[in-house]
Amino acid sequence: MNMRSERHVTIVGAGIVGVCSALWLQRDGWAVTLVDSLPPGRGASFGNAGNISPGAVVPYSIPGSLRQVPGWLFDPTGPLSIRPGYLPRLLPWLFGWVRASRKEEALRISAAMHALHSESFEAYAQLTRGTDAEGLVERIGQLYVSEKPGAAAGSALAQEMRAKAGVAVQVLDANDIQQMEPALAHRFQSGILLPDNGRCRNPHRLVTALAEVSVRNGAQIVQGEVMAIQTEGSRVTRLILDGGSQLTLDALLIAAGAGSGRLLKQFGRSVPIEAERGYHVTLADPGVVLHRPVTHRDWGFAAQPMDMGLRLAGTVEFAGIGAAPNWRRADLLMEQAKRMFPGVQTDQVSRWCGDRPSLPDGLPVLDRMSGVANVFLAFGNSHFGLTAGPVMGRAAAALLNGRATRLPMQHFRLDRFGRVPGLFA
Ligand SMILES: Cc1cc2nc3c(=O)[nH]c(=O)nc-3n(C[C@H](O)[C@H](O)[C@H](O)COP(=O)(O)OP(=O)(O)OC[C@H]3O[C@@H](n4cnc5c(N)ncnc54)[C@H](O)[C@@H]3O)c2cc1C
Repeated sequence: MNMRSERHVTIVGAGIVGVCSALWLQRDGWAVTLVDSLPPGRGASFGNAGNISPGAVVPYSIPGSLRQVPGWLFDPTGPLSIRPGYLPRLLPWLFGWVRASRKEEALRISAAMHALHSESFEAYAQLTRGTDAEGLVERIGQLYVSEKPGAAAGSALAQEMRAKAGVAVQVLDANDIQQMEPALAHRFQSGILLPDNGRCRNPHRLVTALAEVSVRNGAQIVQGEVMAIQTEGSRVTRLILDGGSQLTLDALLIAAGAGSGRLLKQFGRSVPIEAERGYHVTLADPGVVLHRPVTHRDWGFAAQPMDMGLRLAGTVEFAGIGAAPNWRRADLLMEQAKRMFPGVQTDQVSRWCGDRPSLPDGLPVLDRMSGVANVFLAFGNSHFGLTAGPVMGRAAAALLNGRATRLPMQHFRLDRFGRVPGLFA
């Protein structure tokens, strides 16, 4: 599929969102240049937990979640950590997070998540069919377990949100859990199975395989960090990369994950994006068999059987975008893996840390930049970017083509944070 085109777009960010956007745009006849400081798929898209979750309709910030935060913060093994000294800078983001936890807000956000996530498998199928990425994404269900009776399903509101969105849920007891996953420790009291969710066997391979397809379709991949964006009148005209090289722009799509905020500053725009940093450990030879992804609800991480071994991935750390990793957080994941899977072998381990691009309400920005005619925005999918990636890309292509999408785009506007006077505007 090598296409000739008069329309050309430069996409900053070759993660799952940027690469999916490239493929959809090529289908619409656009010529594409992908720019990234790293090779494709080396940002947050590299090491995530691999969950593909059309049923992800429960925001992290809902009534009651704030009550859990102090307990987590004082527990060094807990799922949430704020690096000492970073709290003052994080406060505006946290205020936004708390605002988003009001019931009516949480319900609005839940509906937007449903719209963004529900067609993930169908969108992936369209992009991967007949490519090396086919088969990497599988609808095999997801299991959520808790050590507390009745806790796996979450609050009444969480259950209401899933019911409203039509998410299929099977409630499980300790025996059901053992039968489904005998490798799990006998400590889990409650569980739920989301049979219509699934996983990706190798998230990095997914992005690289899709990037290879885009190159076969004619995309150019340029490795370099965008340092500046030049504007003439109401249009962007040029990217300046590290090392001083320049790229001429016809249209620009910013899909740079957690790095998107720095690029928006070039336009004098501020967006409250934070790195909700997570970690993984991948055990190449775990010695235990898992049949599906299993999320430990109480500790906030997922165990995922992948082509590379058993991956434990998750937890949240706020330390600032680009801060050095605290590998103790990854080591904690390994200690928890030993409690979760008594027979697990941990002698062949790789560790990773990545920045989830997160806005306070958990929703992304999917918009065009007001006042600049040829700039478009697709970033900020927080915990769900692997799930949302192909739908974000399809919507980004619609934006560039001036086409309507089925998504409720008002929830993804850049200016939504400006509504809180003095906070984010
Ligand atoms: C531990 C962990 C577990 C997760 N688990 C899941 C999961 O199970 N399911 C799920 O759906 N999601 C999950 N996520 C979230 C998901 O990984 C992210 O939301 C998603 O990868 C974001 O994709 P992206 O393309 O927006 O960003 P990225 O993959 O980060 O890509 C952005 C790219 O932009 C580039 N860039 C940034 N600034 C510049 C610049 N100035 N110049 C050039 N290049 C630039 C970066 O190098 C990067 O490659 C998880 C995340 C983490 C950290």
